[in-house]
Amino acid sequence: REALAADEGASSIKVAVRVRPLSAREKAASIASVIRVIEGQTVVVLDPADGAIAYGPGANRTREKQYSFDHAFDDSTSQEEVFNLTTRDLVDYVLRGLNCTAFAYGPTGSGKTHTMTGTADEPGVMPRTLERLFERMRAQTANTFRVRISYIEVYNECVYDLLRPSGAAGGGGAAHGNGANAFGGLDLREDPVKGMFVAGVHEEEVTEPSAVLAQLERGNARRTTEATRANATSSRSHAVLQILIESREALANVQTSLELGKLSLIDLAGSERMGKTNNAGARLREGNKINQSLLALANCINALGDKAKRGQFVNYRDSKLTRLLKESLGGNSKTVMLCCLAPSADAFEETTSTLKYAHRAK
Ligand code: ADP
Ligand code: MG
Repeated sequence: REALAADEGASSIKVAVRVRPLSAREKAASIASVIRVIEGQTVVVLDPADGAIAYGPGANRTREKQYSFDHAFDDSTSQEEVFNLTTRDLVDYVLRGLNCTAFAYGPTGSGKTHTMTGTADEPGVMPRTLERLFERMRAQTANTFRVRISYIEVYNECVYDLLRPSGAAGGGGAAHGNGANAFGGLDLREDPVKGMFVAGVHEEEVTEPSAVLAQLERGNARRTTEATRANATSSRSHAVLQILIESREALANVQTSLELGKLSLIDLAGSERMGKTNNAGARLREGNKINQSLLALANCINALGDKAKRGQFVNYRDSKLTRLLKESLGGNSKTVMLCCLAPSADAFEETTSTLKYAHRAK
């Protein structure tokens, strides 16, 4: 039986799935949608072999598979609704000094960047989360806050600064600034107070959220993207926005302890398998590295989500991404996984593997 009930316990990992609309190109090519969303929680996928006769009374349902999640968003779900049911509540946890993480997972073209960054007309989860953060800070007059953001990419197991790239070409350029290693990337370090951090990364102080979307868009333009045979602008890097919040009691003396909260919002690299893209050489090695990060992340999420395994050792050391997120995935933290899907029949294989990945987190 493929269908599983939504997690009943107070899991610190919440899994949501979002299906994007068919694109104009897909509609023009009469490509069918193979996904239906039921009651905001269940995704039904048809094997395209049976797609044409799948719905309505008497339809052949034998090749249908169902998966249930905390939330399932259909193609008419607005950016605001997605935000309201995913990262909106994380803001209050972070203001209390917890670390939280939300990430978008899915194949290239499934809507990860649309969901996380969005556009000026339809801002995504990242700018909306910052808006909400400032709204909540204004309401909490007993504390004073300081907010800083950093925006990095993890590409081929190297870390690059998307806000202040030191190389001319941005990510991947030969940079040797403060904290840069031999590959032009930045090193991860661990600090007893700050926890894991990127050495030498630019941290931009933010006093109002309105300018942030422009910075994110500029940062995204610097992301390492390269044409592959599967997709013209395949995104091969993980983009990590970290929001650091320092909080102090407004009337306190200098002895009052400082609360530190960190919110990590992540647009992961495309999850498509390399076999399909028919790449070779450098591209293939790169793909292996990307899969290594996604696999390491899956293993961490899986171990954290499994109640039987909770409290046991979780291996964060297998990739840069999981090392960076070490204190943001386990323990007292909250994690939201946003899995993005393309509805089209030709994405069936990727859709199925994305849903299985999502389900393993539960
Ligand atoms: P990814 O980052 O996963 O590669 P994108 O976010 O770039 O995918 O989305 C691929 C295309 O689909 C873009 O043109 C994007 O604007 C569009 N798109 C994705 N999700 C939606 C959505 N929910 N509503 C409308 N358009 C969308
Ligand atoms: Mg993208």
